[in-house]
Formats: sequence, C-alpha cells, structure tokens
Amino acid sequence: MLTNRQIFLSNLAQTSDAPLMLEMVSAEGVYMTDVNGKKYIDLISGIGVSNVGHRHPRVVDAIKDQVDKHLHVMVYGEFVQSPQVKLAEALVSTLPETLDSVYLVNSGSEAIEGAMKLAKRFTGKSKIIACKNAYHGSSHGALSLTGSESFKQNYRPLLPGINHIEFGIEEDLQQIDNETGAVVIETIQGEAGVRHVGETYWKALRKKCDETETLLILDEIQCGFGRTGKFWAFEHYNIQPDILVSAKGMGGGMPIGCFISSKKIMDVFTNNPVLGHISTFGGHPVSSAASLATLKAILDEDLLKSIENKEALFHQLLKHPKIRNVRSKGLMMAVEFESYDELKPIIDRAIELGVVTDWFLFNDHSMRIAPPLIISEEEIKDACKIILQAIDSV
Ligand code: PMP
Repeated sequence: MLTNRQIFLSNLAQTSDAPLMLEMVSAEGVYMTDVNGKKYIDLISGIGVSNVGHRHPRVVDAIKDQVDKHLHVMVYGEFVQSPQVKLAEALVSTLPETLDSVYLVNSGSEAIEGAMKLAKRFTGKSKIIACKNAYHGSSHGALSLTGSESFKQNYRPLLPGINHIEFGIEEDLQQIDNETGAVVIETIQGEAGVRHVGETYWKALRKKCDETETLLILDEIQCGFGRTGKFWAFEHYNIQPDILVSAKGMGGGMPIGCFISSKKIMDVFTNNPVLGHISTFGGHPVSSAASLATLKAILDEDLLKSIENKEALFHQLLKHPKIRNVRSKGLMMAVEFESYDELKPIIDRAIELGVVTDWFLFNDHSMRIAPPLIISEEEIKDACKIILQAIDSV
C-alpha cells in the first residue's frame, strides 16, 4: 500500500521541488502534532492564518453549530444568510463609518480581484499603481499587481496599465495621476519580509489619492485581523482606505476573504451590467460563522492588549551574532540572517527540534515569525530557545 507521502508526491500537484512534507494529524492552540506523535510549535500560524490559534474553542463551536443548521443554500448575494449578515455587521463595527459594505469571497486573491474590479468600475479608470516586492495573490489579476518579475515573467500577457513604485518612498507618489484608478498597497509588506513605513508616508499617499480621485486599496490579508496589535493595521497610521481587503486570519482556519468599501462605491456592482461581481461560494455559511467567532475571540479575549509585550519578548530573546536584524510590527516579524544558505539549515534544524518557521517569498534570508496571537510568554521562551539552539547547531 502506498503511504500518504508517496501519494502526496504522485497525485497532488506540487508547487516546489522541496515541500516541507510534515504530516500533521492534529493541531490545538500553538501546537501541531505529526503522524509520529511529535509536537511542533507553529510559529507561522499556517502562514498568517491561525491568529486565534488552531481549533479555537469558539471557532470550533461556531462551525459545529452552523453545520447542524445548513451548509451552502444559495450563491452569494441572493438569500439573507444569517452567518453572512452577522459577520458583515461585526466587520463594519470594527471600521470607520465610510467602510460599511462588505463583499464576502473565499480567498485573498479573490478579494483582490474584486477590489480591483470595483475600483475600475467606480472610477472609470483602469490604471493601477502597486509596489515593488508586493504580494497580492496568484490569480492573473493579483499576479499582475505582484512586484516581482520572476513570479510574473512566464505568465504574460498580464493586466495592462499597472505600474510599480517603491514602497514607502514619497517621491514615487508623483506617479499617481488623474488617470490612476487605484493604488493597491499592503499596509505592511509581508512577503518583502515585514516592511513598514511611518505615518507621514501614509498621509502623503492618502492626500495624493484624494487629489487625483484615485481609490486607495489597502491589502490587509496578512497584516489585518489583529496580527500587528491593532485590529486593522491602518489604525497605526491614522488614515483610512477606500477599499479594505482581508482574508487569511479572518476565517480562524476556514477559507474566507472579503473586500470592504462604502455602500456608494460597492453599489456599482448592481447595475450596467447587473451582477458586476459574482461568486458561488463567497461567504460560505460555515466560514462566515467561523470568521465571526474569530473576530469576537480577538476582541472579547482582549488578544490585542498583550501583543506589544510579546513582540518585545521576541526582540529580547532573539539575540545572536548571526541575527542581523529583527523587523516587526506586533507579531508579524522577520529575523534577518546573512543569506538564504545560512538561514535554510537553521529553519530545517528548528523543525527537527520542534519549531516551525519559514522564510518569505521576496526575502529568502529572513526568518518568518508570525505565531498565533494567543501564544504565551512561556511558549515564546521555548520557541526562541529552540531557534537559538538551531542557529548554534548548524
Ligand atoms: N495578499 C497578501 C498580502 C498575502 O499575504 C496573500 C497570501 N500570502 C494574498 C494576498 C493572497 O491570498 P490567498 O493565498 O488567500 O489567495
């Protein structure tokens, strides 16, 4: 009989020559357990997903409760489905009043696609500005926004009219003009290796968008839902987007995404043509119920309060001659080493010792650390001890 590993390699499409190939059978809180009973600390939350930890009890209860009521009953946007309605109401309650209309989808890429279409329709302008080293997803439209040539080069033609500027450089904002329909930008760049810039830049960007009637689309797929210590990352900078995009951590482990705007902007989808954006599974009732429970867990359990201290603890503990720099915003962190060749064996060794980390798509010499927000100080100490041990043993 073939093992799961053999079937994985022969019958599941592969995305690299070197998949991690860990085989987890259960996961709870910050821990995952593999088929041999070995426990790992998940320091990357399944890549930015398990913000409230694996199988958060409120999320599991909400899923079970919804499964007992109904699964899919109708495509998005036709029936009044209680899990979707309650989730939209709760999302809107976390946001400034101009962001009061939520379009639910299934993933980050899909949310980006919807946001781009919405901006194009509302402004009547198709030119888009994105950033170098940005990651917005893998579908054709989202890939067009991606700021890395190597990811795009073999998939052309992509969407026309997209220009890339340097993230955080004010002079580059001059490229936003009256023909620009939207700026799509991560509030904190994730795959670039956690890059963040100060309020002055964001204020200048907001101003330029206002002057040119350009919609500001903030991608908070990785940095939203509490990851940085505020519920939404843009709250750090005292600005507001015209369209906000979320996914990943939003579902507490279930697939869901959304883009949020004002009712006035969103209403363009209802006419000329009718059904301007459609989705069969968008806002699946079980995912919506899980997402609402996730949102409530973050707020009711005051998870954001402790993030600054946990961030500081990581900084305090991750000291080693080989660590060149630690960049972070809340629990979105990048630990920089000299090179990929130095980092890769450290990541592999840490996994052997029971801590799962990773690198970044556009920064292969930095270690990704983005643990579930519920991680305790003891667990942080355990994890950092293992990382330092891994550094010393390679
Ligand atoms: N935007 C950002 C900032 C992301 O980090 C990701 C996923 N890594 C995406 C978009 C795409 O999300 P998905 O993989 O759910 O399509």
